[in-house]
Amino acid sequence: MASEQSDRTQVATDAESAFMTLSHDLRLEILLALWDAPGFSLSFSELRKAVGERDSGSFTYHLSELQDQFVAKTDDGYELQYPGHRVLDAIQSGVFHDQVTVGPVGLDDDCRECGEQLTFEYDTDYIARIRCSDCGNRALEWPFDPGGIAERDSDAIVAAFDRRTKLIWSCALDGICPFCAGQINRELTSRVHEQGACIGVIEQLDRYDEYFARDHPAVVAVDCERCSFYSFIPVGVVLLTRPAVTGKLYDVDIDSRETPLWDLGFVVDSDSVTVLQTDPMCVEVSIPDATESLAVTIDESFTVTVED
Ligand SMILES: [Zn+2]
Ligand SMILES: [Zn+2]
Repeated sequence: MASEQSDRTQVATDAESAFMTLSHDLRLEILLALWDAPGFSLSFSELRKAVGERDSGSFTYHLSELQDQFVAKTDDGYELQYPGHRVLDAIQSGVFHDQVTVGPVGLDDDCRECGEQLTFEYDTDYIARIRCSDCGNRALEWPFDPGGIAERDSDAIVAAFDRRTKLIWSCALDGICPFCAGQINRELTSRVHEQGACIGVIEQLDRYDEYFARDHPAVVAVDCERCSFYSFIPVGVVLLTRPAVTGKLYDVDIDSRETPLWDLGFVVDSDSVTVLQTDPMCVEVSIPDATESLAVTIDESFTVTVED
């Protein structure tokens, strides 16, 4: 525990010093100027001209503060380094300075509860929501960055949201954090009650009450050991990265790449998930839209077996 605390203190100290290095607008301007430059590199005089800094002493000082971590000195001048790119990537995602809203936009896909048209909506809380305004069904909700909205029309925004959410979920389900690359603990978790006691931890979490798929009998809880990423993912998403399953889906007219998450019944329909046993966990996922009967089982180690 003591060493965990000191590890944390060290991380905070190191990260604080990195963030302090960026705590001056001229330094961010230097990074942005290099980012705009061919080959991410500029000579001293080009860089100074690009940021429009008249005071040579001040420019030299701020540039030197960035050196070795965010910017490297080369024979020709200064070059943006990987940490510098990552800082700018985070800024370009828009989450620090952009607040945009979209929609509601009508989708081509119908509500699986009532058959009315689903809508896409993006709000200033950075959550994209696919829902039915008729029956209130929350088909799918997940964070999205303002960078996903810029320079796209509404069809492209919706498609980008679907594709990116699939990628984030698939990566997390494979045990790799899509945000920090750290290790993810994943657990098949059930909300089934046995003799009055809740199996699993999810019922105790307030955020689970807010989760759009909280009516599913089982979900996957994902928890990054390194960063703050912690979430739940519908069990059916596991199938999207299994060739033995995606091939079968294709055979029964379901293109799992082209079909958005909210139109994949095995992802969003709570009825398609059945808990077969809780210790160890094993669930069955049926494919409601298949032209012939198709179901798979998923065990606690995420082994997927296609049922005969
Ligand atoms: Zn509906
Ligand atoms: Zn992480």
